[in-house]
Amino acid sequence: MTVNYRRTSLDRDTTFYVPKVECFACYDSGIVSNGDNLVNKYIPDYDKDQKGRQNGGQDLAIICHCKAAYGDSQSDDERERVGFRDSLGNIRTTDSIRGEPQALGVSLEKDKIRQIHTDRKACWENTAMVQNLVRNKIAKGEKYETPYYIQVVKEELTKVGDMFSFPSEKAIVQTMTESNDQN
Ligand SMILES: [Zn+2]
Repeated sequence: MTVNYRRTSLDRDTTFYVPKVECFACYDSGIVSNGDNLVNKYIPDYDKDQKGRQNGGQDLAIICHCKAAYGDSQSDDERERVGFRDSLGNIRTTDSIRGEPQALGVSLEKDKIRQIHTDRKACWENTAMVQNLVRNKIAKGEKYETPYYIQVVKEELTKVGDMFSFPSEKAIVQTMTESNDQN
């Protein structure tokens, strides 16, 4: 069997694209994302530990208000999507390990979710604009200034050092090399 591993020209172009989603609050997953801390504007300690550090998944999921949070009424039996909310908009429950009903997540007011969607979409559009400007300059061999957030990540990475160099991992690699030698 031949595997087609070549990317399409769309994948290879240098354009930075804004994610193709309808809802930027939940990226069409039904669960509000907080990778950029926008939720903390409304719930300051959401997904933060006692020391105030970001700790994704610590708190209950925030269920979106868009259609991705609802079941798919048109789907057939084989592809039924139940959704996080019932047709009345109530968040569904599941049985906890103690056998009690437990909500799948919590709700945040509609206007706040809408604001997260609007703000995040604007951020993505701005990022795409800046990235495409920079990439264009790089393509033309012109001088450019690295956007500050990329600089921040670069600086953080220099501090990582040999974080992924665990002694036990070295030992595993060593044994693998040894058993190879015997073959
Ligand atoms: Zn949504």
